[in-house]
Amino acid sequence: MVEALRQRGITDEAVLTAMMAVPRHFFLDKAFEDHAYEDKPFPIGHKQTISQPFTVAYMTALLQVKPNDRVLEIGTGSGYQASILAALGARVYTIERQEALYLRAKALLKELGIRNVYCFWGDGFGGLPKYAPYEGIIVTAGAPFVPEPLRQQLAIGGRLVIPVGEEVQYMHRITRLAADEYQDEVFEAFRFVPFLEGVNKKDEKS
Ligand code: SAH
Repeated sequence: MVEALRQRGITDEAVLTAMMAVPRHFFLDKAFEDHAYEDKPFPIGHKQTISQPFTVAYMTALLQVKPNDRVLEIGTGSGYQASILAALGARVYTIERQEALYLRAKALLKELGIRNVYCFWGDGFGGLPKYAPYEGIIVTAGAPFVPEPLRQQLAIGGRLVIPVGEEVQYMHRITRLAADEYQDEVFEAFRFVPFLEGVNKKDEKS
């Protein structure tokens, strides 16, 4: 899998090492286990998917995580992306709107003994002000716009990596240069599941 990522242009060695260290098959449904190391997204229930390894590597490289950085992830899903961030030494706060996914990821991370990931159930549109500011914020669902609270929760020098758009999303990296100064860089196009407002209780329809 890591060799395929290299061939697709991922050059950040720290990211590749983290991707080598985290066994992706634990984060997938048993039915897809044999395909865990293919560069493909898979369903994780509740109409959501675990992102493709390339997308995870691409976003993680843009985030430029350093050990001990505080990183906020919006869209816990399977917990895979959060585990990659933790493997890079970050202290990860991750928030998920679907209660069932939140519960499952939280239990799995505990079972795998992954420390430094703190799971929350809530609507990521507001970020997680309690633990702000963050050196990195990563949104793993397709956002219709950049929510203002996420910019506000960045540390000076912090980076927000977010796919923005309706049908197709362009990856943006927004860097907070000063209290009210941001730099916005635009990268490649991706397709994500939608960033939805509000929360969803377990056993409720999404
Ligand atoms: N990062 C995940 C991939 C998740 S797919 C992984 O590694 O597996 C995107 C996730 O974002 C879905 O689980 C979806 O329920 C969640 N999501 C969508 N809108 C959200 C919101 N407003 N707040 C929190 N999570 C949200």
